[in-house]
Amino acid sequence: MTHDARRLVVVTGGGSGIGAAAAAALADGGARVVVADIDTEAAEAVARQIGGRAHRVDVRQRTSVEALFASLPRAPDALLTSAGGASRAAALDVSEDLFLETLQLNTGGFWRSAQEAARLAIAERRTLSIVHVASSLHAGPAPGLSHFAAAKGASVSLLRCLAQEWAEYGIRVNGIVPGPVDTPATDAWRVDRTLRRAMESSLPLGRIGRPEDLLPAILWLLSDSAEWVTGSLVTIDGGRSIAP
Ligand code: NAD
Repeated sequence: MTHDARRLVVVTGGGSGIGAAAAAALADGGARVVVADIDTEAAEAVARQIGGRAHRVDVRQRTSVEALFASLPRAPDALLTSAGGASRAAALDVSEDLFLETLQLNTGGFWRSAQEAARLAIAERRTLSIVHVASSLHAGPAPGLSHFAAAKGASVSLLRCLAQEWAEYGIRVNGIVPGPVDTPATDAWRVDRTLRRAMESSLPLGRIGRPEDLLPAILWLLSDSAEWVTGSLVTIDGGRSIAP
């Protein structure tokens, strides 16, 4: 395979957790990976490790996302939007700022990245597969994370609309719906053993997830093997959604 024939994949939030694990798996599979993250050092560390390229991006900013896609040699073949997260607050205490910032990152970040990637793919008449990392909290209940649930719920609605509008261009848009997964974002579970046991016992499959649990679905949805799949959500949550 020549260098240019390799698939070009952008991973937002690629500097840590689920995005970093996916970036490594994509590179293992022969893709050229752009590790895009607001944390430059983290992106560079992952890029060095996997032989990819790091790019600092703030997915809350249109100009920053435009610059990310303008830096590519061509339209990407695939985009994984993993940049996201939220701090906790009881619903009564969520401030205007926290609510809007959470939407701006989790819904807006996905929207902006998907839109810029799609514009490039359409201009260059290339197919594109987009996978968004949603959350099992998108449908609630989410104590202490109502604002995050709202943002992820909106991103799930959005991805189905984008899938419908962009299918005619050969652009597929799908999502994965993870339950609780051990990553740097969820360090609290590692520190607090009681919280961890409570989380584990609430999951029918009895354990918290690992980023590797998500990789087969991410790789499949991003690949041509899923060429007849769009507007779909793959739930990977230890059974959280069917817990009694
Ligand atoms: P993480 O904190 O390990 O990784 C998130 C990455 O996003 C970090 O590298 C961070 O620097 C980057 N990021 C944050 N804000 C950014 C911005 N404005 N622009 C660009 N990059 C930014 O978290 P994770 O657990 O790997 O989460 C990845 C995604 O999975 C998130 O969208 C999260 O909501 C979702 N998710 C996580 C879990 C879980 O339990 N870990 C469960 C469901 C969904």
